[in-house]
Amino acid sequence: MTTIGVLGGMSWESTALYYRLANELVRERRGGLASADLLVRSVDFAAVRELQLDGRWDEAGALLQREGLALQAAGAGLVVLATNYMHKAAGPLEAALDVPFLHLADVVAAAARRRGVEVVGLLGTGATMTEDFYVDRLRRSGLRVVVPGAEDVSRVDGAVFGELCRGVFSEATREDLRRVAAGLVGTGAQALALCCTELELLLRPQDAAVPLLPSARLHVEAALEAAGAGAPTR
Ligand code: GLU
Repeated sequence: MTTIGVLGGMSWESTALYYRLANELVRERRGGLASADLLVRSVDFAAVRELQLDGRWDEAGALLQREGLALQAAGAGLVVLATNYMHKAAGPLEAALDVPFLHLADVVAAAARRRGVEVVGLLGTGATMTEDFYVDRLRRSGLRVVVPGAEDVSRVDGAVFGELCRGVFSEATREDLRRVAAGLVGTGAQALALCCTELELLLRPQDAAVPLLPSARLHVEAALEAAGAGAPTR
């Protein structure tokens, strides 16, 4: 199996999910004591958050490039960036790597297409839901993308950074996300793309009337497949 480089820590709550899922899925496929061949680089999210809030995207891009190349130098045969939002600054990393980079929006779009979905409801950080870097990439794959209204965009964004990235998972916020999800279904979403890697720590399949596309799980499955650990079992 090819070693998978995971560039994470953004936040570590969801990087822990990547780690657990990768190992669980390898055990499911190969049995016994089999586990995932991983290199995990976990950065200090407080420093990354400052770059986001200050709009210092060149520095963010340089950071991702440096850390991703370090994973490659350490032996990663492919690299995943374990956050949707930071794909805004993934260009320099993607360009510099010699090994494959699995872009999260492409992984989500491919999963939607496999399920025959044409209209996808998008949940994520405010920027992921409203800026071109992510939505355009989904649209280029032929999907129609619907997002919540401005007030709900800021509520979901607030929940991500104020709670989920801090390890706070509350019934009240799940209820609020359920309401936002129902709104997207009401505007025609045939599936809900959870394009913030922490959202699937709170929102469960039974919380929406349409199938979920959980970005972290899909990313891990795609990475395992690309690494030769076998195709998803379902
Ligand atoms: N993990 C989140 C995402 O998938 C947001 C945290 C961040 O990287 O800003 O978008």
